[in-house]
Amino acid sequence: MEIVPMPTTRKIAIIGAGPGGLTLARLLQMNGANVVVYERDGGQLSRAQGATLDLHDDAGLKALRKADLMNAFEANYRPDADKLMVVDQDGTIILNNFVSGDHGPERPEIDRGPLRDLLINSLRPDTIVWNRQFTSLATVDGSIDLSFSNGESALADIVIAADGANSRIRPYITTIGPIYSGITIVEGNVYHSAKATPEIHKLVDNGKICALGNSKSLFVVSKGDGSLAFYTGHRTDELWFRDSNIDFSNRTEVLNWFKSEFSGWSVLWDALFENAEPNITPRPQYFFPMGRSWEALPNMTMIGDAAHVMPPYAGEGVNMAMLDALELAECLLSNDYPNVQSAIASYESQMRKRALASTHMTLDQTYAFHSPVAIPRLIEFFAEHIDAKVRAQA
Ligand SMILES: Cc1cc2nc3c(=O)[nH]c(=O)nc-3n(C[C@H](O)[C@H](O)[C@H](O)COP(=O)(O)OP(=O)(O)OC[C@H]3O[C@@H](n4cnc5c(N)ncnc54)[C@H](O)[C@@H]3O)c2cc1C
Repeated sequence: MEIVPMPTTRKIAIIGAGPGGLTLARLLQMNGANVVVYERDGGQLSRAQGATLDLHDDAGLKALRKADLMNAFEANYRPDADKLMVVDQDGTIILNNFVSGDHGPERPEIDRGPLRDLLINSLRPDTIVWNRQFTSLATVDGSIDLSFSNGESALADIVIAADGANSRIRPYITTIGPIYSGITIVEGNVYHSAKATPEIHKLVDNGKICALGNSKSLFVVSKGDGSLAFYTGHRTDELWFRDSNIDFSNRTEVLNWFKSEFSGWSVLWDALFENAEPNITPRPQYFFPMGRSWEALPNMTMIGDAAHVMPPYAGEGVNMAMLDALELAECLLSNDYPNVQSAIASYESQMRKRALASTHMTLDQTYAFHSPVAIPRLIEFFAEHIDAKVRAQA
C-alpha cells in the first residue's frame, strides 16, 4: 500500500516523552498533524528529572525557535549556569569561571525538568498518554498495532521511536545496536546541597565542576532547585555494574567502591556519596557504530538516543535529539517527497551524517577525559580558546 505524505490525517505515535519525542510532538502538532505520545512514566511528576543541559544555537535552540517556545525558554533557563570550573582530583582549581559565551557561541543552560515541562505545556491536553511502556508491535492491515506492558494497545499509521538509549523499537528498524564505550558512569543526586554538602556546593557555585585525575572523571552539576547531580566516569567492563556485586541502593557500599576505585582522590568528594539520594545509578556508556546504515521503512523511524546514543562528555545528546525532531518534522510535513518512506529516508540520511560527526567528537572527548593526560590536554584545549579571544581583542 502506498502511503502519501502530509501525515495530517494519519495517526503518528511517538514512543517516549523525552526532549526528542516532545519536541517532535510540538513541531508536528503545531502544523496540524495528528500526534499521540506514549510514555512509560506514570505522569509528568512521577520521576525526578536529571541535571542541567546546555542548548546549542544551531541545534536545541534552533528547534525551540521553530517550535515558537523561546519565550518559555527565556523564562526558565538558568543564566550563568554554564560557568565551568576544572579541578584535579584534590580539588585544586585549574580553570575557573569558564563561560562558553566568553569564548564562542553562548550555550545557555536549562534544567531537564523545566525543559520537559515547557514542552509538555506546549502540547494540547491528552496528547501524552502516561503509563504506557511499549513492549512490542505488529503490522495489521497497513496499521501498526502497539502493545504496552499494562495490557493496553493502540493503533498508529506512523511510529517514531523516541524511547532513549535502550529503545525497544529500534530492533524493529535495524539489527544494528549500540556498542559499549568502555566507560561506565555512576550517577547520583544530592538534595539541598547547601546544607548537605556545603563545601562542594560553594565550589560548584551554581555552575558545573569537572574533576579529572588518574584516568577518571567526576562531574558535579548544580540544579535550579538547590540540588546537585553528580556522575563519576571510569574505565571498566560492560557488566561491571552487575559483576561487582555492589548494592547501588546502599550509599556506604557505593562510597567504599569510590574510595577504592578513585584512590588518591581528595576526601572532599566523599560527601557526595554520603549524602546521595538512595537511587545511585550505574550507567554503562554506549555509542552507535559509525558509518552503518539501514533501509528506510515506510512507516517507522527513530530519533535521539534511540538512534545514536553517545556518552555525555560533549553535551551533544539532547541537542542531537531536538535537531532530529526538527529535521524529521520538516521531512514529514514537506510536499517534496512522493511518500512517507522517502521523507523518512531523507531524514535518516541527514541524521546519520550529523550523528557520525557528533559521535566522533564525543568519543574523542570521552577518551581524552579518561586518559592519563586528561588535564594537560584540557589545558591545551582551553588555551586555544583563550588565545583566540586574546587575539580577537588585540
Ligand atoms: C548522567 C548523564 C548526563 C548527561 N548530560 C548531558 C548534557 O549535559 N548535555 C546533553 O546534551 N546530554 C546529556 N546527556 C544525554 C541526554 O540526557 C540524552 O542524550 C537526551 O536526553 C536524549 O533525549 P531523548 O529524548 O532521545 O531520550 P530520553 O531523554 O532518554 O527520553 C526517552 C523517554 O522515553 C521513555 N521511554 C523509555 N522506554 C520506553 C518504553 N519502552 N515505552 C515508553 N516510553 C519509554 C523514557 O521514560 C523517557 O521519558 C546526559 C546523560 C546522562 C546519563
